[in-house]
Amino acid sequence: MAKTLFDKVWERHIVVPETDDHPATFFIDLHLIHEVTSPQAFTELANRGLKVRRPDLTLATIDHSTPTLINEDGTRPYVTAQAETQVNTLLENTKKHGIETHGWESDNRGIVHVMGPEIGATQPGMTIVCGDSHTATHGAFGSIAFGIGTTQVGHVLANQCLLMRKPKTMAINVNGQLQAGVTPKDVILAIIAKIGVGGGTGYALEFRGNVFEEMSMAGRMTVCNMAIEAGSRIGMVAPDQTTFDYMQGRRKAPRAAGGEFARACEEWASLASDEGAAFDKEVHLDAAKITPMVTYGTHPGMGISITDIIPAAADKAEQAALDYMQLESGAKIAGQRVDKVFIGSCTNSRLEDLRAAAKILEGRKVQVTTIIVPGSGVTKAAAEKEGLDKVFESAGAQWRDAGCSMCLGMNGDIGAPGDLVVSTSNRNFMGRQGPGVRTVLASPETAAASAVNGTITDPRSMGVAA
Ligand code: SF4
Repeated sequence: MAKTLFDKVWERHIVVPETDDHPATFFIDLHLIHEVTSPQAFTELANRGLKVRRPDLTLATIDHSTPTLINEDGTRPYVTAQAETQVNTLLENTKKHGIETHGWESDNRGIVHVMGPEIGATQPGMTIVCGDSHTATHGAFGSIAFGIGTTQVGHVLANQCLLMRKPKTMAINVNGQLQAGVTPKDVILAIIAKIGVGGGTGYALEFRGNVFEEMSMAGRMTVCNMAIEAGSRIGMVAPDQTTFDYMQGRRKAPRAAGGEFARACEEWASLASDEGAAFDKEVHLDAAKITPMVTYGTHPGMGISITDIIPAAADKAEQAALDYMQLESGAKIAGQRVDKVFIGSCTNSRLEDLRAAAKILEGRKVQVTTIIVPGSGVTKAAAEKEGLDKVFESAGAQWRDAGCSMCLGMNGDIGAPGDLVVSTSNRNFMGRQGPGVRTVLASPETAAASAVNGTITDPRSMGVAA
């Protein structure tokens, strides 16, 4: 029987099959942990006298609460004592349990969904979990990856398995030629605008079609990262030569010696959905109709083309969103005044994103506070090697240390009440970037162009082509 990518990976990880009365027991290949959702889980483990079952399948970093600027004397200005405690608690817990950890001294330290793939820990066909809803990012490699809650973090630490019901499958097909200047972020914002923030609920998404086949790994990660914003915990892209090229030579990837890597690629290639495999639902988008996208409301489904006018509110909730955003139906979204720009987050903080922003900012000046935060120490070093930091600083933007930063603002990087922030992150919920802050989601290109003009700006007006 023809099987989907999801089915193949799912079946390989079932320890005890699902019944009407009981979910499946599902094996986890990689457990990513960070400082925010792990402390309670370790406490629970200690209370029960349990050890971490598979420290070798657990990988830790610090990202959410970490300052992105250091003091002149070298100390780190944690926003609160609690933030510092969170970080130190993670470092103590992982040391105690023998877990590989990328703390302050590691070049790989950074956002969990950036550093995991970077070191080759994320691999095709794996099952990957993390106490963070944007874990679907790793599905870009053809893995089943999803966010879990603190209680489940404890379960995985204790037994490396989860209880889980099998979701249905949905194929999101995007075929055709993307217009020049249209990016992976625009593609996923267009998908979410089409199917809605609940459109993927109960489904594992597979992104299919020539648009994803031609997309880089960074682009695929941007797309899968936002599966959760369409209501789905899982977004996947079939592994192919682009994936294998990305994997080759990474520290945790199979070695070339002895044919190990070649055998792994053969295995990974077999994971692609079979010809004729049936999905529970299929959605189709015409790539040629997608334009640079921005959000205008307070969830990622409220997205429109940057050339559109702000639509009329369909209900009270949408009117409340427009009121919060201080935007009026019928007005153009392009040209709205911007107070700050944030380029970063696990959606768009990879080298490719930074290069895209630099292409716009080179030889120009920003008119508003612009914070650019690389996804990891390795990304930061690579960007600096190419001189991107100099481009950003010459343009008047701030070049920071790696971390989640203003995506969530847990480290204190937030906007002022009322600020309109054009952000390359993934959530535009009320107050996510600080109390009263209004978030407009966009690609790095749109964010950079908006920084230059001080208004929401179509990057194609600055000569950007994909
Ligand atoms: S960058 Fe944002 S969404 Fe991603 S892991 Fe950090 S806080 Fe979560």
